[in-house]
Amino acid sequence: MTVDIQGCDVAPSNVTRPIRRESGQREVFCGLTGIVWLHRKIQDAFFLVVGSRTCAHLIQSAAGVMIFAEPRFATAIMEEKDLAGLTDANTELDRIVTQLLTRRPDIKLLFLVGSCPSEVIKLDLSRAALRLSQSFAPGVRILSYSGSGIETTFTQGEDACLASLVPELPADPRKEASLLVVGSMADVVEDQFVRMFEALGIGPVQFLPPRNSATLPSVGPNTKFLLAQPFLADTARELENRGATRLVAPFPLGVEGTTAWLRSAANAFGIDAVLFDKVTQPARARAERALDNYRKELSGRRIFLFPDSQLEIPLARFLSRELGMQLIEVGTPYLHREHLAEELKLLPPDTPITEGQDVDLQLDRCRLARPDLVVCGLGLANPLEAEGMTTKWAIELVFTPIQGYEQASDLAELFARPLVRRAKLVA
Ligand code: SF4
Repeated sequence: MTVDIQGCDVAPSNVTRPIRRESGQREVFCGLTGIVWLHRKIQDAFFLVVGSRTCAHLIQSAAGVMIFAEPRFATAIMEEKDLAGLTDANTELDRIVTQLLTRRPDIKLLFLVGSCPSEVIKLDLSRAALRLSQSFAPGVRILSYSGSGIETTFTQGEDACLASLVPELPADPRKEASLLVVGSMADVVEDQFVRMFEALGIGPVQFLPPRNSATLPSVGPNTKFLLAQPFLADTARELENRGATRLVAPFPLGVEGTTAWLRSAANAFGIDAVLFDKVTQPARARAERALDNYRKELSGRRIFLFPDSQLEIPLARFLSRELGMQLIEVGTPYLHREHLAEELKLLPPDTPITEGQDVDLQLDRCRLARPDLVVCGLGLANPLEAEGMTTKWAIELVFTPIQGYEQASDLAELFARPLVRRAKLVA
């Protein structure tokens, strides 16, 4: 099936819906942004960006300056002389890492994070990590990944980071099945899921990323993993290479997504349907009641999602099915058709989906549609607000605890808040 839409290809997806593919100028943050939430998650890790002053500014302004704590990220700024000669750059990097690890014995896991400048001069950080590991093992594990903005989007930083960790995970010696939940979630959300899995009798349960590098989860052929985030293609592939099996499920956003996600684990562990309903029903009922307030505000409202966090498809499913919002366009930087298959099945069949971006064309469509709410990156939000549109920053959805039953109404509120604010402004 091919549909001709000016300026783009429209290709068939694995479900019976056309998906528009666009390429051109994009407006997204780079993978370095992931450090902002990853450094809080793995509490003894340090992220050393090997980049330029621009990279340092991005990280500093995105993460803020930590005044009371020793920071757990920094940028080794490449000067012109480093750019001129790779030997110098490697020597400098070794010197900086040695200085850092001598001064900070609390660091047990060091990520060397590549950037556009380090990639442009082809500084091989994987070799640097190997070289430095030999000097600092066994006290410090040194890994590398790329956070470069060349052809990537900001949540891919987490994917690259977790994928670099997978070969480090110990082999699981257990004969029985274990569950691995993959993708950063707030600690409070993880704790809620741990209680839910316990009540269901599912276990042992481990999480990737772990809260501490000393407690890396183990993995093997009896590991069944559930993705908690839709942007972890490389990590999932690495886990499958270690023999683990991905459990097919939508993502745990909203009541419906959370129930289906938990049910996928319950089915894989042979949990009785009656027990499943008994354990999940109180939280489901509570979450559905809490969503009622927001349904009144959001039902029938028209929403346009620009491609940014890769959360767009699961969010669109939640907004349309649980809150009655009308999807004008759902953009996503990349569409992993296999990981998102369960989500795509749940979207209304006529939802216009766009993979990739040609920002000018997309802005034209958005202006023409005049949606009630636009979800987009910071760079587009201000100009659109100036044109009288109501916007929501996509990046906030990654920083806020939104998964699970208890967070379903918080997630709805993130979309209701800008509309309420706009209504007050025009009143
Ligand atoms: Fe900019 Fe690239 Fe550095 Fe990201 S990695 S801040 S896109 S130069």
